[in-house]
Amino acid sequence: MKTFYLEASLSGLGKWLRFLGYKVEMVSGRLTKEEILKNRNKFFLITSIETAEMLEKLQVDYLLLPRNSLKAQLLTLITKLNLKPRLTLDICTLCGSKLIPVKKEDFKDRIPPKVWERYSEFNYCPKCDKLYWEGDHIKRLKRRFKELITPLL
Ligand SMILES: [Zn+2]
Repeated sequence: MKTFYLEASLSGLGKWLRFLGYKVEMVSGRLTKEEILKNRNKFFLITSIETAEMLEKLQVDYLLLPRNSLKAQLLTLITKLNLKPRLTLDICTLCGSKLIPVKKEDFKDRIPPKVWERYSEFNYCPKCDKLYWEGDHIKRLKRRFKELITPLL
């Protein structure tokens, strides 16, 4: 699967795409023709018709998404591109790198005692130096995702 290249207003969607296990890059400024040509091997996700016309002319893969509604964006994307609506959660939410499963013994000094008692699976992002475990945060995410994609289930 190609890397998704998202216009700046779609940062919320970008986060969820990472949870689904896809590579995501965010456009920082306006999408210019030069910017598009530089990234023409990526899959563009956009909300502007003008940009869609530009991408069409340059023959770059893209999908035009509805503005403002994360739910509508996510549903459109999953349906149109036939993505699996399943969270992989092995991707760092900060930088998008793949997480590495680690032994908790190696991180003992960084894990709160309660977490140490309750969980055995830990993942680590070497780039951000961040440790992840299947905590309440993940439970909340799963619940929220279910709400978002409910019409598909
Ligand atoms: Zn990271």
